[in-house]
Amino acid sequence: MMNDLVLRGGSVLTPEGVVVADVGVSNGVIAALGTTVGEGKTTLDVTGCWVGPALVDIHTHLREPGQEWKEDVESGSLAAAAGGFGAVVAMPNTMPAIDAGHLARFIRDRGREVGLVDVMPSGCITLGRAGISMSHIDDLWKAGVRIFTDDGDSVANSAVLRSAMEYISALGGVVSQHAVDPDLSSVGHMHEGSVSSRLGMYGIPHAADDITLARDLVLAEMTGVRYHVQHLSTANGVELVREAKRRGVAVTAEVSPHHMAFDHTAVATTDSNFKVMPPLRESSDRQALIAGLVEGIIDAVATDHAPHAALEKEVPFEEAPNGMLGLEWAASIAIGVAALTQEAFFDRMSIRPAAIASLPEHGQVLQVGTAATIVAVDPLHTWTPTTTFSKSRNAPYIGMELAGKVRHTLLRGVVTFSDTPIVAGQ
Ligand SMILES: [Zn+2]
Repeated sequence: MMNDLVLRGGSVLTPEGVVVADVGVSNGVIAALGTTVGEGKTTLDVTGCWVGPALVDIHTHLREPGQEWKEDVESGSLAAAAGGFGAVVAMPNTMPAIDAGHLARFIRDRGREVGLVDVMPSGCITLGRAGISMSHIDDLWKAGVRIFTDDGDSVANSAVLRSAMEYISALGGVVSQHAVDPDLSSVGHMHEGSVSSRLGMYGIPHAADDITLARDLVLAEMTGVRYHVQHLSTANGVELVREAKRRGVAVTAEVSPHHMAFDHTAVATTDSNFKVMPPLRESSDRQALIAGLVEGIIDAVATDHAPHAALEKEVPFEEAPNGMLGLEWAASIAIGVAALTQEAFFDRMSIRPAAIASLPEHGQVLQVGTAATIVAVDPLHTWTPTTTFSKSRNAPYIGMELAGKVRHTLLRGVVTFSDTPIVAGQ
Protein backbone atom coordinates (compact mmCIF):
# COMPACT_ATOMS: atom_id res chain seq x y z
CA MET A 1 0.00 0.00 0.00
CA MET A 2 1.31 3.47 -0.88
CA ASN A 3 0.56 6.10 1.75
CA ASP A 4 0.77 9.83 1.10
CA LEU A 5 3.13 10.05 4.08
CA VAL A 6 4.64 7.71 6.66
CA LEU A 7 5.96 8.65 10.10
CA ARG A 8 8.55 5.95 10.70
CA GLY A 9 9.71 4.49 14.03
CA GLY A 10 8.20 6.78 16.68
CA SER A 11 6.72 6.01 20.11
CA VAL A 12 3.07 6.37 19.19
CA LEU A 13 0.24 7.13 21.62
CA THR A 14 -2.60 4.74 20.70
CA PRO A 15 -5.75 3.53 22.51
CA GLU A 16 -3.61 0.61 23.73
CA GLY A 17 -0.98 2.93 25.18
CA VAL A 18 2.43 3.83 23.76
CA VAL A 19 3.77 1.48 21.07
CA VAL A 20 6.75 1.78 18.74
CA ALA A 21 5.10 1.87 15.33
CA ASP A 22 4.89 3.47 11.93
CA VAL A 23 1.94 5.69 11.05
CA GLY A 24 0.64 5.78 7.48
CA VAL A 25 -1.32 8.86 6.42
CA SER A 26 -3.51 9.13 3.33
CA ASN A 27 -6.18 11.66 2.36
CA GLY A 28 -5.75 13.49 5.66
CA VAL A 29 -6.50 10.54 7.91
CA ILE A 30 -4.50 7.78 9.56
CA ALA A 31 -4.72 4.92 7.07
CA ALA A 32 -2.43 2.41 8.74
CA LEU A 33 -0.67 2.05 12.09
CA GLY A 34 1.73 -0.71 13.09
CA THR A 35 4.92 -2.36 11.89
CA THR A 36 3.78 -3.04 8.32
CA VAL A 37 2.10 0.14 7.10
CA GLY A 38 3.71 0.03 3.65
CA GLU A 39 5.59 2.75 1.81
CA GLY A 40 4.93 6.47 1.65
CA LYS A 41 5.34 9.08 -1.06
CA THR A 42 6.99 11.04 1.75
CA THR A 43 8.71 9.60 4.82
CA LEU A 44 9.43 11.31 8.14
CA ASP A 45 11.98 9.51 10.33
CA VAL A 46 10.65 10.04 13.86
CA THR A 47 12.82 7.48 15.63
CA GLY A 48 13.00 8.38 19.32
CA CYS A 49 10.16 10.88 19.05
CA TRP A 50 6.90 10.97 20.97
CA VAL A 51 4.14 10.79 18.36
CA GLY A 52 0.59 11.74 19.33
CA PRO A 53 -2.26 14.14 18.67
CA ALA A 54 -1.16 17.67 17.77
CA LEU A 55 -1.22 20.04 20.73
CA VAL A 56 -4.14 22.30 21.63
CA ASP A 57 -3.60 25.70 23.24
CA ILE A 58 -6.66 27.08 25.01
CA HIS A 59 -5.05 30.46 25.72
CA THR A 60 -3.43 32.32 22.79
CA HIS A 61 -3.34 36.04 22.07
CA LEU A 62 -3.25 36.54 18.29
CA ARG A 63 -3.79 40.34 18.54
CA GLU A 64 -5.94 40.47 15.39
CA PRO A 65 -7.98 42.58 14.89
CA GLY A 66 -6.50 45.84 16.04
CA GLN A 67 -2.93 45.22 17.18
CA GLU A 68 -1.36 43.57 14.16
CA TRP A 69 1.99 45.19 14.85
CA LYS A 70 2.35 42.72 17.75
CA GLU A 71 0.98 39.59 16.02
CA ASP A 72 -1.69 38.52 13.57
CA VAL A 73 -3.48 35.30 12.74
CA GLU A 74 -0.84 34.36 10.16
CA SER A 75 2.27 34.95 12.29
CA GLY A 76 0.58 33.44 15.34
CA SER A 77 -0.42 30.38 13.31
CA LEU A 78 3.18 29.94 12.13
CA ALA A 79 4.40 30.08 15.73
CA ALA A 80 1.67 27.66 16.82
CA ALA A 81 2.53 25.11 14.12
CA ALA A 82 6.22 25.37 15.07
CA GLY A 83 5.21 24.70 18.67
CA GLY A 84 3.41 21.50 17.70
CA PHE A 85 -0.12 22.89 17.88
CA GLY A 86 -3.04 21.81 15.69
CA ALA A 87 -5.54 24.17 17.30
CA VAL A 88 -5.48 27.35 19.35
CA VAL A 89 -8.20 29.25 21.17
CA ALA A 90 -7.79 32.96 20.40
CA MET A 91 -8.40 35.28 23.32
CA PRO A 92 -11.04 37.99 22.75
CA ASN A 93 -9.20 41.00 24.21
CA THR A 94 -8.58 42.45 20.76
CA MET A 95 -9.60 45.84 19.35
CA PRO A 96 -12.54 45.62 19.10
CA ALA A 97 -13.09 42.96 21.72
CA ILE A 98 -14.80 39.78 20.46
CA ASP A 99 -18.21 40.28 22.05
CA ALA A 100 -20.45 39.49 19.05
CA GLY A 101 -20.77 36.67 16.54
CA HIS A 102 -19.54 38.44 13.41
CA LEU A 103 -16.24 39.23 15.15
CA ALA A 104 -15.79 35.60 16.20
CA ARG A 105 -16.50 34.46 12.61
CA PHE A 106 -13.85 36.87 11.33
CA ILE A 107 -11.20 35.25 13.58
CA ARG A 108 -12.23 31.70 12.65
CA ASP A 109 -12.28 32.55 8.92
CA ARG A 110 -8.84 34.22 9.10
CA GLY A 111 -7.57 31.01 10.69
CA ARG A 112 -9.02 28.93 7.84
CA GLU A 113 -7.51 31.22 5.20
CA VAL A 114 -4.07 30.80 6.77
CA GLY A 115 -4.72 27.09 7.19
CA LEU A 116 -1.88 26.15 9.56
CA VAL A 117 -3.86 25.58 12.75
CA ASP A 118 -7.55 25.54 13.61
CA VAL A 119 -8.19 28.93 15.18
CA MET A 120 -11.10 28.70 17.59
CA PRO A 121 -12.35 32.11 18.72
CA SER A 122 -13.32 32.66 22.33
CA GLY A 123 -15.81 35.36 23.19
CA CYS A 124 -16.12 37.96 25.90
CA ILE A 125 -18.23 37.36 28.97
CA THR A 126 -19.16 41.04 29.14
CA LEU A 127 -19.82 43.66 26.51
CA GLY A 128 -16.54 45.32 25.50
CA ARG A 129 -14.88 43.45 28.39
CA ALA A 130 -16.20 46.26 30.56
CA GLY A 131 -17.46 43.91 33.27
CA ILE A 132 -20.89 45.55 33.44
CA SER A 133 -23.36 43.67 31.23
CA MET A 134 -23.31 40.39 29.34
CA SER A 135 -21.90 40.20 25.82
CA HIS A 136 -23.95 38.87 22.88
CA ILE A 137 -23.58 35.36 24.25
CA ASP A 138 -26.23 33.66 22.05
CA ASP A 139 -24.78 35.27 18.96
CA LEU A 140 -21.25 34.18 19.95
CA TRP A 141 -22.51 30.66 20.63
CA LYS A 142 -24.09 30.48 17.16
CA ALA A 143 -20.74 31.56 15.72
CA GLY A 144 -19.12 28.52 17.34
CA VAL A 145 -17.73 30.09 20.51
CA ARG A 146 -17.57 27.61 23.38
CA ILE A 147 -15.18 29.38 25.79
CA PHE A 148 -16.18 32.71 27.27
CA THR A 149 -13.62 34.94 29.00
CA ASP A 150 -12.79 38.59 29.62
CA ASP A 151 -9.10 37.56 29.75
CA GLY A 152 -6.78 40.42 30.56
CA ASP A 153 -9.38 41.40 33.14
CA SER A 154 -11.27 39.48 35.77
CA VAL A 155 -15.07 39.70 35.90
CA ALA A 156 -15.10 41.37 39.29
CA ASN A 157 -18.82 41.92 39.80
CA SER A 158 -20.21 38.74 41.40
CA ALA A 159 -23.77 39.40 40.23
CA VAL A 160 -22.68 39.89 36.61
CA LEU A 161 -20.54 36.75 36.79
CA ARG A 162 -23.38 34.75 38.32
CA SER A 163 -25.78 35.76 35.52
CA ALA A 164 -23.20 34.93 32.86
CA MET A 165 -22.49 31.57 34.49
CA GLU A 166 -26.20 30.69 34.53
CA TYR A 167 -26.61 31.74 30.91
CA ILE A 168 -23.48 30.00 29.64
CA SER A 169 -24.22 26.91 31.73
CA ALA A 170 -27.61 26.55 30.01
CA LEU A 171 -25.83 26.57 26.63
CA GLY A 172 -23.15 24.11 27.75
CA GLY A 173 -20.22 26.51 27.42
CA VAL A 174 -17.23 27.21 29.61
CA VAL A 175 -16.65 30.31 31.73
CA SER A 176 -12.90 30.91 31.73
CA GLN A 177 -11.59 33.40 34.24
CA HIS A 178 -8.49 35.57 34.45
CA ALA A 179 -8.65 35.13 38.19
CA VAL A 180 -6.82 38.17 39.53
CA ASP A 181 -8.55 40.63 41.86
CA PRO A 182 -8.46 44.02 40.09
CA ASP A 183 -8.12 46.07 43.26
CA LEU A 184 -5.41 43.96 44.90
CA SER A 185 -3.43 43.96 41.65
CA SER A 186 -4.06 47.50 40.43
CA VAL A 187 -0.85 49.18 41.59
CA GLY A 188 1.47 46.15 41.51
CA HIS A 189 4.03 45.22 38.88
CA MET A 190 5.33 41.90 40.25
CA HIS A 191 4.78 39.34 43.00
CA GLU A 192 4.59 40.87 46.48
CA GLY A 193 7.43 39.28 48.42
CA SER A 194 11.13 39.48 49.23
CA VAL A 195 12.16 40.51 45.70
CA SER A 196 9.59 43.29 45.39
CA SER A 197 10.69 44.59 48.83
CA ARG A 198 14.33 44.62 47.75
CA LEU A 199 13.54 46.34 44.43
CA GLY A 200 11.15 48.81 46.09
CA MET A 201 8.47 47.83 43.58
CA TYR A 202 4.75 47.61 44.35
CA GLY A 203 3.69 43.98 44.53
CA ILE A 204 0.64 41.80 43.88
CA PRO A 205 -0.07 39.40 46.76
CA HIS A 206 -0.98 35.73 46.40
CA ALA A 207 -4.41 36.74 47.70
CA ALA A 208 -5.21 38.62 44.48
CA ASP A 209 -5.50 35.29 42.67
CA ASP A 210 -6.75 33.16 45.53
CA ILE A 211 -9.66 35.42 46.52
CA THR A 212 -11.04 35.57 42.97
CA LEU A 213 -10.62 31.82 42.45
CA ALA A 214 -12.27 30.99 45.78
CA ARG A 215 -15.25 33.23 45.03
CA ASP A 216 -15.58 31.84 41.51
CA LEU A 217 -15.58 28.26 42.75
CA VAL A 218 -18.49 29.08 45.06
CA LEU A 219 -20.41 30.61 42.15
CA ALA A 220 -19.50 27.71 39.85
CA GLU A 221 -20.82 25.25 42.38
CA MET A 222 -24.02 27.29 42.74
CA THR A 223 -24.68 27.62 38.99
CA GLY A 224 -23.29 24.26 37.82
CA VAL A 225 -21.35 25.94 35.00
CA ARG A 226 -18.19 24.44 33.53
CA TYR A 227 -15.63 26.79 35.07
CA HIS A 228 -12.02 27.07 33.94
CA VAL A 229 -9.34 29.02 35.78
CA GLN A 230 -6.68 30.56 33.56
CA HIS A 231 -2.96 30.80 34.33
CA LEU A 232 -2.95 29.48 37.90
CA SER A 233 0.02 31.03 39.73
CA THR A 234 -0.19 30.09 43.41
CA ALA A 235 0.24 26.93 45.48
CA ASN A 236 -2.97 27.78 47.32
CA GLY A 237 -4.79 27.96 43.99
CA VAL A 238 -3.82 24.36 43.25
CA GLU A 239 -5.31 23.34 46.61
CA LEU A 240 -8.51 25.32 45.96
CA VAL A 241 -8.94 23.49 42.64
CA ARG A 242 -8.16 20.14 44.24
CA GLU A 243 -10.76 20.69 46.95
CA ALA A 244 -13.42 21.89 44.46
CA LYS A 245 -12.85 18.85 42.24
CA ARG A 246 -13.20 16.64 45.30
CA ARG A 247 -16.62 18.25 45.96
CA GLY A 248 -17.65 17.59 42.37
CA VAL A 249 -17.46 21.16 41.03
CA ALA A 250 -17.04 21.20 37.22
CA VAL A 251 -13.70 22.99 37.38
CA THR A 252 -10.63 22.74 35.15
CA ALA A 253 -7.35 24.62 35.48
CA GLU A 254 -4.39 25.61 33.33
CA VAL A 255 -0.80 26.60 34.03
CA SER A 256 1.41 28.63 31.71
CA PRO A 257 4.90 27.52 30.69
CA HIS A 258 6.41 30.64 32.29
CA HIS A 259 4.86 30.01 35.70
CA MET A 260 6.57 26.59 35.61
CA ALA A 261 9.89 27.83 34.21
CA PHE A 262 10.53 30.96 36.29
CA ASP A 263 9.88 32.52 39.68
CA HIS A 264 9.99 36.10 41.01
CA THR A 265 13.76 36.09 41.35
CA ALA A 266 13.87 36.45 37.53
CA VAL A 267 12.32 39.90 37.95
CA ALA A 268 15.43 41.05 39.87
CA THR A 269 17.01 41.57 36.43
CA THR A 270 14.20 44.11 35.75
CA ASP A 271 14.02 42.54 32.26
CA SER A 272 10.47 43.45 31.25
CA ASN A 273 10.10 40.10 29.43
CA PHE A 274 9.50 38.69 32.93
CA LYS A 275 6.58 41.04 33.54
CA VAL A 276 3.48 38.88 33.29
CA MET A 277 -0.01 38.75 34.84
CA PRO A 278 -0.49 37.03 37.20
CA PRO A 279 3.13 37.65 38.20
CA LEU A 280 5.89 35.05 38.51
CA ARG A 281 5.63 33.97 42.12
CA GLU A 282 7.79 32.10 44.62
CA SER A 283 9.82 28.96 44.09
CA SER A 284 7.37 27.04 46.29
CA ASP A 285 4.48 28.17 44.04
CA ARG A 286 6.39 27.10 40.95
CA GLN A 287 7.04 23.67 42.44
CA ALA A 288 3.38 23.30 43.49
CA LEU A 289 2.19 24.19 39.97
CA ILE A 290 4.50 21.61 38.42
CA ALA A 291 3.38 18.99 40.96
CA GLY A 292 -0.26 19.87 40.31
CA LEU A 293 0.24 19.43 36.58
CA VAL A 294 2.06 16.12 37.00
CA GLU A 295 -0.67 14.87 39.33
CA GLY A 296 -3.43 16.07 36.99
CA ILE A 297 -5.12 18.50 39.39
CA ILE A 298 -4.10 21.08 36.79
CA ASP A 299 -5.65 19.88 33.55
CA ALA A 300 -3.72 21.74 30.90
CA VAL A 301 -0.62 23.62 29.90
CA ALA A 302 -1.87 26.79 28.19
CA THR A 303 0.63 29.24 26.77
CA ASP A 304 -0.91 32.68 27.43
CA HIS A 305 1.19 33.56 24.35
CA ALA A 306 1.15 37.37 24.66
CA PRO A 307 3.10 39.20 21.96
CA HIS A 308 4.27 42.77 22.54
CA ALA A 309 6.49 44.82 20.23
CA ALA A 310 10.04 45.64 21.32
CA LEU A 311 9.30 49.35 21.60
CA GLU A 312 6.50 48.54 24.05
CA LYS A 313 8.63 46.25 26.22
CA GLU A 314 11.88 48.27 26.09
CA VAL A 315 10.72 50.75 28.71
CA PRO A 316 11.13 50.85 32.50
CA PHE A 317 9.75 47.66 34.07
CA GLU A 318 6.84 49.47 35.72
CA GLU A 319 5.67 50.90 32.41
CA ALA A 320 5.89 47.71 30.32
CA PRO A 321 2.79 45.73 29.33
CA ASN A 322 2.24 42.25 30.80
CA GLY A 323 2.98 39.06 28.91
CA MET A 324 5.50 36.89 27.10
CA LEU A 325 5.45 34.62 24.07
CA GLY A 326 4.97 30.90 24.63
CA LEU A 327 3.69 28.90 21.66
CA GLU A 328 7.06 27.73 20.31
CA TRP A 329 8.52 26.58 23.63
CA ALA A 330 5.57 25.28 25.67
CA ALA A 331 6.31 21.65 24.74
CA SER A 332 9.94 22.08 25.80
CA ILE A 333 8.94 23.44 29.22
CA ALA A 334 6.38 20.63 29.72
CA ILE A 335 9.09 18.08 28.96
CA GLY A 336 12.28 19.72 30.21
CA VAL A 337 10.95 21.53 33.30
CA ALA A 338 7.75 19.69 34.31
CA ALA A 339 9.26 16.33 33.24
CA LEU A 340 5.92 14.94 32.07
CA THR A 341 5.78 11.36 30.81
CA GLN A 342 4.62 10.86 27.21
CA GLU A 343 1.09 9.95 28.34
CA ALA A 344 0.84 12.94 30.68
CA PHE A 345 2.33 15.25 28.04
CA PHE A 346 -0.38 14.45 25.48
CA ASP A 347 -3.09 14.39 28.14
CA ARG A 348 -2.27 17.87 29.46
CA MET A 349 -1.30 19.46 26.14
CA SER A 350 -3.80 17.91 23.73
CA ILE A 351 -6.47 15.56 25.08
CA ARG A 352 -7.80 17.58 28.02
CA PRO A 353 -7.42 21.02 26.37
CA ALA A 354 -9.40 19.73 23.35
CA ALA A 355 -12.13 18.50 25.70
CA ILE A 356 -12.25 21.84 27.55
CA ALA A 357 -12.51 23.73 24.24
CA SER A 358 -15.08 21.29 22.76
CA LEU A 359 -12.87 20.39 19.78
CA PRO A 360 -13.86 16.80 18.96
CA GLU A 361 -11.50 16.56 15.97
CA HIS A 362 -8.51 17.30 18.20
CA GLY A 363 -6.95 15.53 21.14
CA GLN A 364 -7.59 12.04 19.76
CA VAL A 365 -5.08 9.26 20.40
CA LEU A 366 -3.81 7.85 17.13
CA GLN A 367 -5.70 5.02 15.43
CA VAL A 368 -6.78 4.11 11.94
CA GLY A 369 -9.55 6.38 10.73
CA THR A 370 -8.87 9.44 12.89
CA ALA A 371 -7.74 12.75 11.40
CA ALA A 372 -3.97 12.88 10.83
CA THR A 373 -3.51 15.88 13.13
CA ILE A 374 -0.26 14.78 14.67
CA VAL A 375 2.87 16.05 16.37
CA ALA A 376 6.26 14.37 16.67
CA VAL A 377 8.37 15.66 19.57
CA ASP A 378 11.93 14.58 20.35
CA PRO A 379 11.98 14.54 24.18
CA LEU A 380 15.76 14.22 24.46
CA HIS A 381 16.93 16.84 21.99
CA THR A 382 18.39 19.95 23.64
CA TRP A 383 18.42 23.17 21.68
CA THR A 384 18.76 26.93 22.07
CA PRO A 385 16.14 29.00 20.24
CA THR A 386 17.64 31.94 18.36
CA THR A 387 14.55 33.29 16.66
CA THR A 388 10.76 33.11 16.53
CA PHE A 389 7.95 33.00 13.98
CA SER A 390 6.06 35.57 16.02
CA LYS A 391 6.07 39.23 14.98
CA SER A 392 7.26 40.01 18.52
CA ARG A 393 10.31 38.78 20.41
CA ASN A 394 9.31 39.20 24.06
CA ALA A 395 10.49 35.79 25.18
CA PRO A 396 13.24 34.96 27.68
CA TYR A 397 13.37 31.51 26.05
CA ILE A 398 15.30 32.96 23.10
CA GLY A 399 18.93 32.20 23.94
CA MET A 400 18.03 29.72 26.71
CA GLU A 401 18.95 26.04 26.47
CA LEU A 402 15.76 23.94 26.38
CA ALA A 403 15.14 20.19 26.44
CA GLY A 404 12.55 18.65 24.11
CA LYS A 405 11.99 19.78 20.53
CA VAL A 406 9.01 19.69 18.19
CA ARG A 407 10.11 17.98 14.95
CA HIS A 408 6.99 17.81 12.79
CA THR A 409 3.41 19.03 13.01
CA LEU A 410 0.59 17.77 10.78
CA LEU A 411 -2.91 19.20 10.37
CA ARG A 412 -5.26 16.71 8.67
CA GLY A 413 -2.34 15.11 6.87
CA VAL A 414 -0.66 18.34 5.76
CA VAL A 415 2.79 19.04 7.20
CA THR A 416 2.48 22.50 8.77
CA PHE A 417 5.92 22.53 10.40
CA SER A 418 9.06 20.50 10.01
CA ASP A 419 12.47 21.21 11.51
CA THR A 420 14.23 18.35 9.73
CA PRO A 421 14.43 17.57 6.01
CA ILE A 422 11.53 15.62 4.55
CA VAL A 423 12.55 12.62 2.43
CA ALA A 424 10.46 12.00 -0.66
CA GLY A 425 9.93 8.41 -1.72
CA GLN A 426 11.93 5.69 0.10
ZN1 LIG B 1 -5.08 36.47 31.61
